[in-house]
Amino acid sequence: MAFIIDGKKISAEIKEELRETVAALKEKGVSVCLAVIQVGDDPASSVYVGNKKKACAFIGIESRAFELPADISQEELMDLVGDLNADPSVDGILVQLPLPSHLNEKEVTRAISPEKDVDGFHPQNVGALSIGEEGFVSCTPAGIIQLLKRSGIEIEGKECVVVGRSNIVGKPMAMLLLRENGTVTVCHSRTKDLPKVCSRADILVAAIGKPRFFDDTYVKEGAAVIDVGIHRGDDGKLCGDVDFQKVKDKVSAITPVPGGVGPMTIAMLMYNCVEAAKRKTTS
Ligand code: NDP
Repeated sequence: MAFIIDGKKISAEIKEELRETVAALKEKGVSVCLAVIQVGDDPASSVYVGNKKKACAFIGIESRAFELPADISQEELMDLVGDLNADPSVDGILVQLPLPSHLNEKEVTRAISPEKDVDGFHPQNVGALSIGEEGFVSCTPAGIIQLLKRSGIEIEGKECVVVGRSNIVGKPMAMLLLRENGTVTVCHSRTKDLPKVCSRADILVAAIGKPRFFDDTYVKEGAAVIDVGIHRGDDGKLCGDVDFQKVKDKVSAITPVPGGVGPMTIAMLMYNCVEAAKRKTTS
């Protein structure tokens, strides 16, 4: 049976460390504030926003909520982002996605100042990651690096296969593994003989959004498997992109769903907020 990488425990450790950092910043007179914009009242988005507010409260970050009507205009939303960019008391700005279809998500994401883009979605931050410069990194892949490091799984020199090439998971994941000196292959829906490519991996990151897609034919004996997918089955239970039962006895380490990658995303969002506030102390 594989070592189960405990995302709940590791995210709790990170949040505890951040709580101490925030307390120390407060002693120096530096506060941390995250502005959270939600448009409409999509139930899933409300759950995500609620969890982010809870994490802020635990760490000592002020969360300033902007709950906007679903029919808000692009102009009004852009004005709010502009005001928050200009407000020195706001360190991070988060716009909960997806936005209603009449709004231009790309334009909104790009309007957020790169210095306050704690989601790490702004092209300037994405570019910084590619060229090895400082910037905010997308929270889910950043959390996966923490899971690996804090579980003692070495990345340097390892064969890393990332399946999925989205802008928020697959691509930044590949860049981060490369930064850690992994040998990285990125797969997608047009990859030929996916099981063969995946079976090369010492570290396999599955991020395709297909429930229990990866079985034991996709994994090498002793590999570490990171399951990014999250799905609710007909039975109401959550599962990932990996068929945990079929894979767990072949691999050396694996993230469960739930309790693996999921909790790390919010922890890293909090980390980015604290980093944004820390910059005020050096500028
Ligand atoms: P996207 O739908 O944006 O991207 C999916 C990627 O998977 C695409 O690059 C696609 O390839 C590839 N893909 C789809 N089907 C196959 C296939 N059969 N074989 C190989 N590649 C395939 O998804 P996201 O990256 O946003 O999310 C992936 C999963 O991670 C989802 O289940 C999502 O819910 C979950 N997620 C979880 C988070 C967490 O906090 N735990 C955070 C973010 C996402 P192509 O580019 O060729 O179309």
